[in-house]
Amino acid sequence: MVDRPRCAFCAEHAIFIDRASGLHLCGTHLKRSVEERVFLEMQMHTLPPTLGVAFSGGKDSTALLAALTALQKRLRIQIIALTVDEGIAGYREDTISHAKWVCQTLHIPHKIISFKELFGWNLDEMISASCTIHACTVCGIFRRRALEVLAEREGVHTIATGHNQNDAAQTFLMNLFSADLKKMVAGSFGTPGSSRFSKRIKPFSTVSEREVTLYGVLCNLFKELVECPYAHQAVRGEVRSLLSELELHRPGTIAHTAACERAVRTELLARRSSGIIPLVPCSICGWPGSHAVCQVCTTLEKINQRVQRPSVL
Ligand SMILES: [Zn+2]
Ligand SMILES: [Zn+2]
Repeated sequence: MVDRPRCAFCAEHAIFIDRASGLHLCGTHLKRSVEERVFLEMQMHTLPPTLGVAFSGGKDSTALLAALTALQKRLRIQIIALTVDEGIAGYREDTISHAKWVCQTLHIPHKIISFKELFGWNLDEMISASCTIHACTVCGIFRRRALEVLAEREGVHTIATGHNQNDAAQTFLMNLFSADLKKMVAGSFGTPGSSRFSKRIKPFSTVSEREVTLYGVLCNLFKELVECPYAHQAVRGEVRSLLSELELHRPGTIAHTAACERAVRTELLARRSSGIIPLVPCSICGWPGSHAVCQVCTTLEKINQRVQRPSVL
């Protein structure tokens, strides 16, 4: 029988190998390593008394909620889970009920807002009303707004999202390939005091997708959930494969790309706060954006025209 490698810090068998550093870790030490990096990342921000966690009920946000719950006392914060119900038949019912179960298990207050209550339509209706609109694009635009409305309703000014190191690297390349500078800062809208948007923080910025998955498994909080029916439309998949391929031959590529994303975003944000890319209030809904009418109102207008019903915003 082949002797399995041991953890670098104890006598347990390793369940994870960091290919870039060669470090072997057992379950306990992997959990500790993930929590320590989340703690360090959180220390980089001025933390509010109550932190909102964008909680879809999927793998990444479940692991994030578990990690932040474990660190709640050390960080001296209260946590509230914020869920957006987009209204996707055959998919969201399951993830919402899983989300409720996770919050009950972790004893975290849970608030839900739906596209239907906020915009008058659920995502399925929006997509069938307009076959020209890309599902993930439309969902992203409305989900971001729904989360802001829910945060404002709950008096939350900072939201943690489950984006991990791989997501950051993928997003960076996607924006680079489409030369989209605006999108490079979009994820960090709302530097304190500059607008109505909540501050966004990404505690898993230095944690890889594989570590996040293992962390969630070790916390016994994962459930096999069906994939979003619109996921096949996402272009992210191609960039993901490209990065995985590079990572295989050059361990550390994803971490380096993610670090570069952070540096570029920080630089762009500094330019935004000095007024080079100003935000203006939308003439319809009043939320800040880069145009006279915001993206949410423009998209909703298109959908409403197609189904000939007035806007409910
Ligand atoms: Zn160990
Ligand atoms: Zn608007």
